[in-house]
Amino acid sequence: MVQVIEWVNPGEDEIIWRYPNEVIKWGAQLIVHEYEVAVFMRDGKIYDVLGPGRHTLTTQNLPLLYKLVGGSNSPFKATVIFVSMKEFQGRYGGETQTRELAPVKYYGVYWFKVADPVLFITEVVGGQSLYDAQDVTKFIRAYFNEGMMKHLSTYSIVDLFQNLDMVSTQVKVKLMEDFHRLGLELVDVKIEGVNTTDEWRQRLFWLMHTGNAQAVMQMDTVKRVAAELGKSSGAGMGTGMVLVPQLFQQQAQPAPPAQPYTGGGAPPAPQQPQQAVPAQPAAQQEICPYCGKPIPPGARFCPYCGHEIKRCPNGHIVPEGAKFCPVCGAKIE
Ligand SMILES: [Zn+2]
Ligand SMILES: [Zn+2]
Repeated sequence: MVQVIEWVNPGEDEIIWRYPNEVIKWGAQLIVHEYEVAVFMRDGKIYDVLGPGRHTLTTQNLPLLYKLVGGSNSPFKATVIFVSMKEFQGRYGGETQTRELAPVKYYGVYWFKVADPVLFITEVVGGQSLYDAQDVTKFIRAYFNEGMMKHLSTYSIVDLFQNLDMVSTQVKVKLMEDFHRLGLELVDVKIEGVNTTDEWRQRLFWLMHTGNAQAVMQMDTVKRVAAELGKSSGAGMGTGMVLVPQLFQQQAQPAPPAQPYTGGGAPPAPQQPQQAVPAQPAAQQEICPYCGKPIPPGARFCPYCGHEIKRCPNGHIVPEGAKFCPVCGAKIE
């Protein structure tokens, strides 16, 4: 009976399949379907590669193996691996930290295919000894996720939430390079969502509306802002923009008590609308992140609570234990 080597009914997610019999006879029929490649290996080394078609295995189409077996026409040992060249879809999801160590969760979809079967088998299948389709899929997913984590962690949380399109494009390019090294083509990547903790979402609000990262370090203030925003039901972005600098100014000097309108006479002239832009002098005022009192610019210690003020090499106040400055990204010793 003629030996037939064929990948029958490949599964939806199967990228590779190993022909279970390692003894191959000359004259065997090798059937390679469209979008498939058959790779002949021995001792982890790739010898001959055959593309789609019906092949009768001869010394002609397996010249390297024929040479290896010393020109003998008796059956020889080889591992036949079929590689699918179709496009596959994978889902991903994971957690990482941004540049300022904010925890973020992300998820999405990616599409990939084998571009260079020889490189793919060398780097992934043979290189990792993954001869099972599921193991290969798992490996690729883990590899993708690891890259995603690594690349996302170089961005700030503001970039992730405000410029996700830009981040996606840049991360995609880097991941494509990573995949290329495995003989894979990363066709596309879609980031469907990013998320962070409640605490960081509050900080993010502050960062986006004032651009003042130092103020964000004072969680007391931020929590008060959040509470204040929560009070005014339906407070939209516009309200928040006004409210934030107001609260900020209250820190430097207590707000004057509101003038009660007692009625009678002319009603009080409508007040000048609050400026929507963050008040500049207040934004530049440094505040002790431990007691919340205003401190002299560049102070090393708070004159009120005596706490040491940690700073990055560029003089920005940084939170305790931070590895990178949240303002400029400088590494903290
Ligand atoms: Zn203090
Ligand atoms: Zn800095």
